[in-house]
Amino acid sequence: MFPLVVNLLSRLIPLWVVVACLNCCPAQADADPVVYVTMVSHFDRPWAMTDGDLVALEKLTRFHPRMRWTHLYNPVAYTQDTPLREAMERFVKQTRDHHAAEIGTHLHMYKSLLTAAGVKFVTHPSVTAEQVEGSRDDSGYAVPITRYSREEIGRLLEHTRKIYQERGLGQPKTFCAGFYATSLDLQNMIAAHGYTTSAAAFPTQTIYGAQYAPSWHALSGWNASVTYKSRPYRISQASILPGHEAPFINAIDKQPLVEIPQTCKIDWMVSAEDMKVIFKEHLAIARQGATTAICLAIHETSSEGNFDKFHQVLRYIDEHIHSGSQPQVKYITTAELRDRILEPN
Ligand SMILES: [Zn+2]
Repeated sequence: MFPLVVNLLSRLIPLWVVVACLNCCPAQADADPVVYVTMVSHFDRPWAMTDGDLVALEKLTRFHPRMRWTHLYNPVAYTQDTPLREAMERFVKQTRDHHAAEIGTHLHMYKSLLTAAGVKFVTHPSVTAEQVEGSRDDSGYAVPITRYSREEIGRLLEHTRKIYQERGLGQPKTFCAGFYATSLDLQNMIAAHGYTTSAAAFPTQTIYGAQYAPSWHALSGWNASVTYKSRPYRISQASILPGHEAPFINAIDKQPLVEIPQTCKIDWMVSAEDMKVIFKEHLAIARQGATTAICLAIHETSSEGNFDKFHQVLRYIDEHIHSGSQPQVKYITTAELRDRILEPN
């Protein structure tokens, strides 16, 4: 009798261990710390994009086939004359359909967009001034979205959704306002409008790269708690900044809205060397045991001018991936990164 029981147990135990393990360790592809690499395109002045800029973005896609774009596309292309609109729309859709890119949203407070959305256009304040008082931008480009009411922001987001739907661009998941300005109101509004991810947290210091004008520091919502070393984080209901606790702002999937810090600032502010050093700093973070992410960012209208810089940095990252060395490095879109960050460990 006893040997029979032992025999039965020995058959059951491995099965039990497997079942228990499946229960306690849900599918987790990245048990070891990973450095995720996101690459965002900012559509700032789509009407000023040239054929050369489009070719540069296409070349980055072709030369770095593992890289995954998160396009921060701009509905303003549909509210004023934009010569390359069809070509750029084709490009973002083509990368989505063939290179697993994501199409997110970038909004600057231009008159044509605001008028189309039924929002009254204003020119004060400007984030590019020496001081907030008396600052203005007649184009609206440098006026932060956060100076508009929740109701007005809601109209802008709804108008964006409508344009994206009409143009077959899908439901955007990642949001970034012009000059990275945000607030708790804005974060709550994007969550309510179907966004899951914010790509706005911006390093305020100059350890690597240049910084914005003094009025930006007063108006953007960011402070020294965001650095080139910041990791993605759940956005608290108490603050847009890193390091705050639950309860979090939930997206419509009932999971927290996640912030993807813009660790490498943006094209004109940083050199290829700056971006490589920041990447290496995040490799060190992963070696110490924490999964982390960097974000590279390029403007559509200066992609030809910045092509060499990004080609060089992406080649450096590609080489790390190709070598198979640790820690593991993976390209990902910002919204997929958000889902990955929220997976149970
Ligand atoms: Zn912009």
